[in-house]
Amino acid sequence: MNACVIAKMKKKLVIYPGTFDPFTNGHLDLVRRGLRMFDNLIVAVAPSQKKNPLFSVEERVSLIRETLRGDERLSVEIFDGLLVDYVSSRKGNAILRGLRAVSDFEYELQMALMNRRLSSEIETVFMMPSEEYSYLTATIVKEIASLGGSVRGLVPSPVYKALKKRFRKQ
Ligand code: ADP
Repeated sequence: MNACVIAKMKKKLVIYPGTFDPFTNGHLDLVRRGLRMFDNLIVAVAPSQKKNPLFSVEERVSLIRETLRGDERLSVEIFDGLLVDYVSSRKGNAILRGLRAVSDFEYELQMALMNRRLSSEIETVFMMPSEEYSYLTATIVKEIASLGGSVRGLVPSPVYKALKKRFRKQ
């Protein structure tokens, strides 16, 4: 078997890391785009305690699992520690990140270059969401939901229900 055939047989895995507090339709759009380029994708949820998240990491994982269920190419995991170490432990080929606007660029560039310095084998791939989600942030979603506004169409249905429940209690 020549090298070209072997390379084609090897499945490509991309890791999509983030806080996902909560998972939005922008995140979902990126997952779908990622699967056009890679065979498998892991959504890696960071606890991000410093960001004081609305949902616990377990809640975020279960909401994403419910949203993505049924596609065997996808999985959802919690990751802690250095991202490059996690990606290596999963034998991932690349990190997927989203670029919505120019404002995302500086931070994302910094992270990508730092990750490359830590591990030169792992590439970061940036993808842009559909225009309708390019203004969408998890922070805005939480803000609207907390003020009683509708986030229909901005988040997947399990997240929509969880936000309603969370803010109904108050
Ligand atoms: P983090 O705390 O790592 O920034 P986020 O959950 O905010 O976690 O975002 C995870 C990734 O998803 C980031 O690369 C971010 O740019 C991207 N992202 C967030 N919202 C959107 C969106 N609406 N469209 C595309 N990408 C997005």
